Amino acid sequence: MAEAPVTADLSRLPADTVTLLRRLGALARERGTDVYLVGGLVRDLLLDVGSVDLDVAVVGDGPAFARRASEALGGTLVVHERFMTSTVTLEDHTLIDVATARTETYERSGALPRVKPAPIDADLRRRDFTVNAMALQLAPAAFGVLLDPFGGAADLAARRLRILHDRSFLDDPTRILRMARFAARLEFGLEDGTAARLAEALEGRAFEFVSGDRLREEIYLGLNELEPAAVFGRLEAWGALDTLLPGASPGGDLAELEELAGRLIALCEKGATWDPSALRLLLLMRSALPPALDAAARKLNLPPSSREVLKYAPRLPELARAAEAAEKLSNVHKVLRGMPLEVQLAVLVFVGPPEARERVFTYLRGGRGLAPELTGDDLQAMGYAQGPGLKPILEGLVEARLDGAVHNRRDEERWVREHFPRPPLAPSDPSAN
Ligand code: ATP
Repeated sequence: MAEAPVTADLSRLPADTVTLLRRLGALARERGTDVYLVGGLVRDLLLDVGSVDLDVAVVGDGPAFARRASEALGGTLVVHERFMTSTVTLEDHTLIDVATARTETYERSGALPRVKPAPIDADLRRRDFTVNAMALQLAPAAFGVLLDPFGGAADLAARRLRILHDRSFLDDPTRILRMARFAARLEFGLEDGTAARLAEALEGRAFEFVSGDRLREEIYLGLNELEPAAVFGRLEAWGALDTLLPGASPGGDLAELEELAGRLIALCEKGATWDPSALRLLLLMRSALPPALDAAARKLNLPPSSREVLKYAPRLPELARAAEAAEKLSNVHKVLRGMPLEVQLAVLVFVGPPEARERVFTYLRGGRGLAPELTGDDLQAMGYAQGPGLKPILEGLVEARLDGAVHNRRDEERWVREHFPRPPLAPSDPSAN
């Protein structure tokens, strides 16, 4: 007798999402094809943990289905022809990633795959781990029925990660990093065969075949997990970290530092001028020496701004001590001025005593971008000569502002006259004669 189909309990999803999934299933049927819910959401639904991405795979022409779905649901559409994938964004900001069910072939290890439309079983076969190779049917007649050709549900129950075939890590070594993320996040172990293939892939120096950009993307995903120290701790325990990122230290106090950094990152607005991932990478590499830092920057093809951040790793303890010793905001400014925000935040993470931490935090929140009201032109109008002599005056004004010695333009003028009493007159100033 055939086994009864397993149907997932979709009631754990918001009612709107279930309605949306039913509509996608009906829309695909109208076109004579099938659509499946795939990827992390299926895994997380069966595990009963939260997940937000909607990934669906369509048998046939994915972009055409995405276009139809976007019209019917009133969304906007972006198509990535090369990968046969599309993203539909609904008015309520729900994102639906629509992929064409496909096979992928790897021409060489670590390269991007060549893709070809295929039935859903073949699509599931190209995936990374059995727990990520399940699909839920969305067709009205079989809504919610689980497709699980590789025993993903059993592996979920046994809390283990298992690759689908022996060459998996050789085809795509970034799966090792994905495995560390899932193992840490879900607290899963490795199935024995998978652990053996991992050891072989590391022996064959699998990461050497991956481009710096792909490595960086995957490492940044790991750094942005809720517990990055656990992700990199797994890689270390597997013997993968030495070849991947020599000089990284996931142990010791990293978890604590990351936790504090996470809270700071949430307080700071992410802007074009700073990158939370660079801060997290700096913390991971906090014990590395300059040659290892240079090597990491090259290996991950870091942009110049992140390279600059990473260079500060060996100085963090000394900077934190100096910041702790600073009794006034102006002293904090002298320690931290001109440094990238990522570095300043890392210093704050290292500062121990609460009072000192509060002071550095106050500086970063309000003082860091402080400028005096008086400009160089104003100082010249007051009789000070143009040129490098203006710099200490303007800098002194910033410090006076930080320490609350001046509050407005008139205070500033008074402060300047008091502290720089005999203005050197500009040579071109006609009143000099
Ligand atoms: P997360 O919860 O981190 O988003 P996810 O499982 O949804 O996890 P995605 O990176 O969004 O991960 O990928 C969606 C699905 O695509 C995965 O579940 C997996 O089936 C497949 N996949 C992604 N990257 C790879 C890869 N490098 N090799 C094989 N399959 C992959």
